[in-house]
Amino acid sequence: MAIQIDGKALAAKVKDRVRSGASTLQRQPGLAVILVGENPASKVYVAGKEKDCAECGIRSFPHKLPAETTQEELMALIQTLNNDPLVDGILCQLPLPEHLSEDAVINAIRPDKDVDCFHPFNVGRLVIGAPVFLPCTPAGVMEMLKEYQISVRGKRCVVLGRSNIVGKPMAMLLTQADGTVTACHSRTEQLSAITREADILVSAIGKTDFVTADMVKEGAVVIDVAMNRNASGKLCGDVDFASVAPKAAYITPVPGGVGPMTRAMLMQNILTAAQMHQA
Ligand code: NAP
Repeated sequence: MAIQIDGKALAAKVKDRVRSGASTLQRQPGLAVILVGENPASKVYVAGKEKDCAECGIRSFPHKLPAETTQEELMALIQTLNNDPLVDGILCQLPLPEHLSEDAVINAIRPDKDVDCFHPFNVGRLVIGAPVFLPCTPAGVMEMLKEYQISVRGKRCVVLGRSNIVGKPMAMLLTQADGTVTACHSRTEQLSAITREADILVSAIGKTDFVTADMVKEGAVVIDVAMNRNASGKLCGDVDFASVAPKAAYITPVPGGVGPMTRAMLMQNILTAAQMHQA
């Protein structure tokens, strides 16, 4: 039976580290959080981030805007926050209402305040192996592997999903850790044959019970990034946990796996930004 990787416990450890780092700074680190509209899931995520900030000694500056906010108004707020010396990080919760451009927002946030690591400058830095910030979810996965002393070097790694937020940077970080990485997506042929070769399998698709035991090699490390709702509304991942866990060496649960780590790594990025701004 697989060892369950405890994301909640590790996230608490990372947040402790951030809190003690923040306490040594002259000025309290600050995060501006922009929420546009009334998306219920986004409200929950934002509330979680504000709570994490409070736990880590980070000041949060909430900006809750109505759904009818115009692009010009949103861009003006970002410019104000870019120039605010108390704000180390700016986070605009996605998705935005349809009339607003997410790309424009991502490009407008000053790269040294881009704690989500979405700006092309920071993505470029990541690709050349000289990151300023690390993308939160993939960085959380790497932190889990490190904590459980799971070496990536020389291992066959398979990433399911190629989104800008998860799949692509995940494949990049595993490559930089000397893994041999295959990035799969919806057009991948013979997917099961590829996943069965994985020593480390990371799934970030968004389909409940997609990864079944027959897709997993005996003794593999299985990391489930997804946060889906099943038919009864329960939070679950991509992996059919009940059938995969007996076969894997390590597995992350959902909830309590990658999710808390994503939030903790955001706190780490805010501390990094504050340290840069106060250097
Ligand atoms: P996304 O942008 O929708 O990307 C999904 C990816 O899965 C795409 O690259 C897509 O391929 C691929 N895919 C879809 N069906 C597939 C199939 N049958 N076989 C192989 N690949 C397939 O999603 P995302 O933003 O990356 O998020 C993925 C999941 O992670 C979601 O459940 C999300 O809620 C979760 N998530 C969790 C956290 C966390 O903190 N734990 C953070 C972010 C996201 P194509 O590119 O070909 O369309």
